[in-house]
Amino acid sequence: MLRIENLHARVDDKPILKGIDLTIKPGEVHAIMGPNGSGKSTLSNVLAGRSGYEVTEGTVTYRGRNLLELPPEQRARDGVFLAFQYPVEIPGVSNIYLLKAAYNAMRRHRGLNEVDALDFLKLVKEKTKIVDLDEQFLYRGVNEGFSGGEKKRNEILQMAILEPTLCILDETDSGLDIDALKVVANGVNSLRSPDRAFILVTHYQRLLDYVKPDHVHVLAHGRIVRSGDAGLAHELEQKGYGWIEAAAAGG
Ligand code: ADP
Ligand code: MG
Ligand code: MG
Repeated sequence: MLRIENLHARVDDKPILKGIDLTIKPGEVHAIMGPNGSGKSTLSNVLAGRSGYEVTEGTVTYRGRNLLELPPEQRARDGVFLAFQYPVEIPGVSNIYLLKAAYNAMRRHRGLNEVDALDFLKLVKEKTKIVDLDEQFLYRGVNEGFSGGEKKRNEILQMAILEPTLCILDETDSGLDIDALKVVANGVNSLRSPDRAFILVTHYQRLLDYVKPDHVHVLAHGRIVRSGDAGLAHELEQKGYGWIEAAAAGG
C-alpha cells in the first residue's frame, strides 16, 4: 500500500527527516514512537501533503502512484486520512453538514452515488456509537466548544465515516487521558480491515495495550533507528529511548 524510500524532508531549511524507509501492507498497523522532536509529526504531515515541508530526497509510493506529486485534497480523496493533532473549530458550520459534504465528496470521487440526508443520518448515528459521542454534537458547530475528549471522538468519527485506506493518527504529546486513548483504540480496532492500514504515531505505550500493532518503529533524529513487533513498545516503556539512540549513534 505504501512504500517510503530514503525520504528526506526539511522544515524552514532545517533537515528533519534524514532517510526514512518504511513499507506498509494492507491490513497492517504500524506504530511510530520516538522522543519529542524526532520528526514523527513531520513524517505524518509530509504524507498528508501539508504545506511548509520540503521533500529534498526519496520517494513515497501509495497504491502504485507517486504520492508526493498529488495535492493534499487528492491524497485525501484517494483515501489518505490524517487526523489532526489539534482539530480546528469551524463555528457556524454544523458538524453533520461537514461530515455529509466530505462523505459525499468521497463517494463522488469513488464513482458512487451521493447519499441523501436521511440515509446519511442513519449512517452517522451508527458511527457515533463507535466513538460514544452524543448525537447533539452532530448539530453543533464543528468542534465548537468541544472538550479535548469530544474533539478526539469527533476526529475518530470523521475517520469512521470517510472510510480511508491509509489512516494516519498523530497523537498529541500530552493531554490524552485514558478515556481518549480508549476512544482512539476502539476507533482503530473497529476500522481495522484487511484492505486498510494505520500509521499510529504515539508517545504512549499504553495506547498499544489497546491496539496491538503489527510493527513498531522508533524514530530518532529523523531516522528509523529500530523496528520490531509489539514487544518493542514494552521494552521502550521499561528502558526509555536513550539506549536506542545511543546504539544508533554508535552503530
Ligand atoms: P515530533 O512529532 O517527533 O515531536 P516534529 O516532527 O514535530 O517532531 O519536529 C521535528 C523537528 O522539527 C523539531 O526539532 C521541531 O522543532 C522542528 N520543527 C517542526 N515544525 C517546525 C516548524 N514549523 N518550523 C521550524 N521547525 C520545526
Ligand atoms: Mg512533538
Ligand atoms: Mg509530534
